[in-house]
Amino acid sequence: MRRLVSLRTLGVLLAVLAMAFGAACGREGSPGGQPVAGSPVAQNVQVPGSPVFAQMQQRGRVVLGVKNDQPGLGIQDPTTGQYTGFDIEIGRMVAAGLGFAPEQIEYRVIPSAAREDAISRGDVDLYVGTYTINDSRKQRVGFAGPYFVAGQDLLVRADDQSITGPQTLQGKRVCSATGSTPIQRVREQNLTQNVVEFQNYSQCVDALRGGQVDAVTTDNAILAGYAAQTPDQLRVVGQTFSEEPYGIGMNRDDAALRNKVNDLLQAAENDGTWTRLYNETLGRSGTPAPQPPPIERY
Ligand code: GLU
Repeated sequence: MRRLVSLRTLGVLLAVLAMAFGAACGREGSPGGQPVAGSPVAQNVQVPGSPVFAQMQQRGRVVLGVKNDQPGLGIQDPTTGQYTGFDIEIGRMVAAGLGFAPEQIEYRVIPSAAREDAISRGDVDLYVGTYTINDSRKQRVGFAGPYFVAGQDLLVRADDQSITGPQTLQGKRVCSATGSTPIQRVREQNLTQNVVEFQNYSQCVDALRGGQVDAVTTDNAILAGYAAQTPDQLRVVGQTFSEEPYGIGMNRDDAALRNKVNDLLQAAENDGTWTRLYNETLGRSGTPAPQPPPIERY
């Protein structure tokens, strides 16, 4: 009898421990959590005619430009220093396909406004961070992809019923990031006169929480990550008003590297890797994996 009780107690204890372990491993809760199991690191990779790849090989490292404050996409854990998110995983997958192991990746945080400069100066080899492919940026940098398509949306305080879409922003204080396509669209379409601008979206979200602005505008995928942190305080409006195809930024003139990265993205989309990476990151907030977008080579 006594033994039976202690076995049961042991069982309960194990269940509690298993739950605690599961939570600590990031199996539940907000997007992010642990890095996803890696893609195999390719051996003897060659990218003939790619000066940037030649530099990476010489260095023995790939410098990846990223964001560090966008949950679900690219975020750095302040205590462990670990990066997680869909953009990060796409970057790791590409690095592995180019022959670089996770420990051979150097992450460099670059805000929206500094991307073209950082890439064209060679400060980063590849940039993976909610980076919309468009013609004006293509004058300065190259893009592989798209590997995801987002759309511009609005983040508001959960109790604010007055903002229901882009046409309801007149007279409102709207925050976005310097050098981004969403802030440009707010100005071009004259959605409000009252634009507040910061380097990073997380600063806009703090201002929204503090009541200094009424809305944050950028891609729905980014806003969903912030809303998930405090769903009782913040809400995504859910009316997208643009298409934001995400590309991997790189040197404009390195067509060989662009082709190679497109091949790697295509393979990941075809063999299910893309869907697995999505499900382990952005998919955790509950949105099922979409069809991966067709790669647009140029
Ligand atoms: N995708 C948009 C852009 O590239 C907004 C997100 C960002 O600023 O990174 O400008």
